Amino acid sequence: MSLFARAKQHAWRMAVATMMAILFVLAIDMIYGHSTVAFAIAIVALIWLNMPMLRFNCPRCGYNIFFRGMIVIPWPRRECGKCGLQLDAPEQS
Ligand SMILES: [Zn+2]
Repeated sequence: MSLFARAKQHAWRMAVATMMAILFVLAIDMIYGHSTVAFAIAIVALIWLNMPMLRFNCPRCGYNIFFRGMIVIPWPRRECGKCGLQLDAPEQS
């Protein structure tokens, strides 16, 4: 499986996790009338779940597949933003 395909899977997992976090905060808000603590828990959980994102780096130059210059987009690039290496080709190892 290519780096791009694995990064895409991670992006989908994060999309689902984000939806669940929103539903969790909304549910707590409806049950308890406030959701400040639930919101904090959801944010921490999402940041924790997103940690593997930092490992999706270009095998040639180490540039992160989710970075576009200074900004981070929750969807991976098909080619490296720094050296232009194709990241959707199957990996050798
Ligand atoms: Zn690169």
